[in-house]
Amino acid sequence: MRKVVRTICQGCHCECGVLVHVEDGEIKKIEGDPDFPMNKGLICVKGRYYHEYVYHPERLRYPIKRVGERGEGKWKRITWDQALTEIAEKLTEIKERYGPEAIAAIHGTGPRPTLYSTHLLVYALGSPNASSVDWHICAAPLGLAGTCTLGRNIMMEVGPDYENANCIMVWGANPIASHPPRGKEIIEAKRKRNAKLIVVDPRRTTLASMADLWLQVRPGTDCALALGMINTIIEEELYDKDFVEKWCYGFDKLKEHVKKFPPEKVADITWVPPNLIREAARLYATTKPAALHARAGTEQNINSIQTGRALAIMIALTGNIDVKGGNLLPERMEGYITTTALMGRGKEGRAFRPRPEIEKKRIGSDVYPLASGPEALHTTFAHGPLLIDAMLTGKPYPVKALFCAGANPVLLMQDSKKVWKALMNLELLVVIEFFMTPTAELADYVLPATMWPERDECCDLMYTDYVAARQKVIDPPPECWDDMKIVIELIKRIPWADRRFVPWNSVEEFNDWRVRGLGVSFEELKKRGYIKVPHRYRKYEQEGFDTPTGKVELYSTILEKFGYDPLPTYVEPPESPISTPELLKEYPLILITGARQINFFNSEGRQISSLRKLTPDPEIEINPETAAKLGIKDGDWVWVETPQVKGERVKLKAKLTNGIHPMVVHARHGWWFPEKPAPEHGCFESNINVVTRDGPPREKIIGSVPTRGTLCKVYRARD
Ligand code: SF4
Repeated sequence: MRKVVRTICQGCHCECGVLVHVEDGEIKKIEGDPDFPMNKGLICVKGRYYHEYVYHPERLRYPIKRVGERGEGKWKRITWDQALTEIAEKLTEIKERYGPEAIAAIHGTGPRPTLYSTHLLVYALGSPNASSVDWHICAAPLGLAGTCTLGRNIMMEVGPDYENANCIMVWGANPIASHPPRGKEIIEAKRKRNAKLIVVDPRRTTLASMADLWLQVRPGTDCALALGMINTIIEEELYDKDFVEKWCYGFDKLKEHVKKFPPEKVADITWVPPNLIREAARLYATTKPAALHARAGTEQNINSIQTGRALAIMIALTGNIDVKGGNLLPERMEGYITTTALMGRGKEGRAFRPRPEIEKKRIGSDVYPLASGPEALHTTFAHGPLLIDAMLTGKPYPVKALFCAGANPVLLMQDSKKVWKALMNLELLVVIEFFMTPTAELADYVLPATMWPERDECCDLMYTDYVAARQKVIDPPPECWDDMKIVIELIKRIPWADRRFVPWNSVEEFNDWRVRGLGVSFEELKKRGYIKVPHRYRKYEQEGFDTPTGKVELYSTILEKFGYDPLPTYVEPPESPISTPELLKEYPLILITGARQINFFNSEGRQISSLRKLTPDPEIEINPETAAKLGIKDGDWVWVETPQVKGERVKLKAKLTNGIHPMVVHARHGWWFPEKPAPEHGCFESNINVVTRDGPPREKIIGSVPTRGTLCKVYRARD
C-alpha cells in the first residue's frame, strides 16, 4: 500500500514541513512540503536522506545494559521493564545518599523532544539540574540578551522578516547551512527584489560572496563592531527619533557611552576599515525596513550577551522592531503550551519550574543567576561546564547520575578529555540515543529512541505565529520509544517523584494537553497540519515591552540590578594578538570553530553514507598564503594545537580557501568516526573540542566560552 504523509522533519531544529512517501510501511522518499509556511517546499540533504537514519543497520533497536567495566564495551540486551525498574532503583539510592540534586539531565541542540523532556524529568525528581551541552554558547545568549533588552528574542531564526525586508544584515551566522529555509529566503530577497545584504563574518560564506557589504570581522570582536556602528547611527542622527523617544529607555546614556567607540578606534580592534563600518551602519539604518539575523558566531565568545544586547539595540534604534520587513516579536498562541515554556521561559514557563529554593541549588545559579537561578530571564539551565566540574570534583555538591538525551557531550562540550573523565566518574549514566556514540559507550544503560517519522509531537520552536503537528508516518522498531514516553514510564515507577511535572499517562495525553487551550485535540491539529494566528505588527503599542520599564532598555535596569554593565561593553578575547601578544610567536593564528555544515547536524550523521560522502573528512580552512608559509598543501593532514588545552592536539585535513583571513583558520566541529573501534570511535583524533577550554575565563552573565577567537598553531602532520 502506498501513501504520502504530511509531517514535520526534525533532521535539525528547523522543523520544515515534509511529504513522506511510504510503500508497504517503508519510507521510499522524503520531499519538502510546498504548502508549509516555514520552508515552502525546500528540503535539505539531511531531510532528504533521513530514511538512511531510520533503516541504518547500526541503529539501536532495544535497551542494553553495561555488564563489563564502564566503557569496556560489554553489553547485555534487556527489556524496557528491567531497564526502567533498575534505573528507578538506582535513582532512589542516589537521591537517598546524595540528595535529589545529584541527579542531572543534559540535552543536545534540538532534534527530539529532549529540550523539555529532560527538564520535566529532573524537576519531577526534585533536582533543578536540567542542562545542555551548548546552551551557554548557542541560542541562550542571544535569547537572554534579547529578553533583557526588549522582553523577547527576535534576532535568531525566529524574528527576521526577510520576505519583506529591503535590507538584511546577517551577523555571525550562515543560515544557508544552519537554517536552509531561512537562508533561501535571504537569497530570494537579494536575487528577486535586490534587497541590500550586509554580512558580518570572518569567513566568506555564500551569503558574504553575494553581499553588498561584507565586513570580515576579527573573530571575537563583534561587540566592538556593533558599538562602532551604533556610534555612527547616533552621531549621524540616522536613528528613528520618534521610536527612540517613545519606546527606548536610556538613550542619553547610550549616546555618551558609544562615543568611546568611534569607527577609527573600532577598526583597530576589529580589522574592519572605518569607512566600511560607517557604510554598513548607514545602509542598515537608512534602508527601511531592515531585518537582522545574528547567531552562534556572536555567542561563542566572552562578549556573547553584550554583543546580543548591542545588536538588539541597533534594531531598536532604527525602529525595525515588529514592523513588516523588520524583526518580529513572536505572536502569543493563547492557550498553547510552547516548547520554551516547558523549558521554563518567561511568565508562561514559571509553572514548569521548580520552587525558588530548589532553583537556587541549580549548578551555576550563584555564578550566573540570570541564566541559572530563580530569577533566570530566558529558559533555565544548569551551566554545562560547571556541571562537568561537579561530576569531577563533587563541588559545589556531587552530581552522580546523568540522563543524556539526544546529546553527545564528549564531542560537543569543550575540553573533551575532561568531559570523558567526568562521565567515567558517574554512578549512573543513562543515554537515550539512535546510535552508539562515544558518549553512549560510557553508559550504564543505553535506551533506543524513536526518530521523527515515528513520532507524534507539537512543533513550535522555530515558528513565530503557528504550531504544527509532527505526525507518525511509520511504526518505530517495536522497542524504540519516544523520549517523552521514557520519561512518563520512568516517573510512574518512582513513588517519590513529583507527578505535578509529569502528570500524563501517555504521550497522547501529553500532546492533547499542550493544544487543549487552542480548543482542539492533537488529532484535530494533525488533520489541520498547523494552526496559525494572524501576525499583529507593533504589538508594543498596545502591550508595551516585557521589560521592567515597559520600553526597550538601551540601558538595562535588569543587568544593573544584578551588578553587570547596563550598557554593552567590549572585552578583548582572553587569548588574542592584543591581549596576549607574547603567545603569538608560538600560536600565530586565530582559531574559529562551531560553524554548521548543511550535511551534518553537529556530531550527527557521520554514519549516513549519503551525507558522509559530501564531507568524508574533518576539514580546516586555511588561507593559501598562510598554508604556503607553513608548507601545507590542499588535502594535507595537519595538527592543530591551542594554548587553551596544552599538550593536546587534533588532526584535520587542510582545505585551502581565499575566503578566510590569512591570520584565521576555521576548524569543523563534532567529528568522530563511527567506523572506528569502540569505545572512543576516534573521538579524540579530530574533534576540535579536545583543544578548546571550558573556561574560565567565561562571559560574566551566562558563562559563554571563546570557542571562536582563540589562538592556535597549525603544522603539517607527517605521521
Ligand atoms: S533544514 Fe533539513 S534537516 Fe532541518 S528540518 Fe529542514 S529538511 Fe529537515
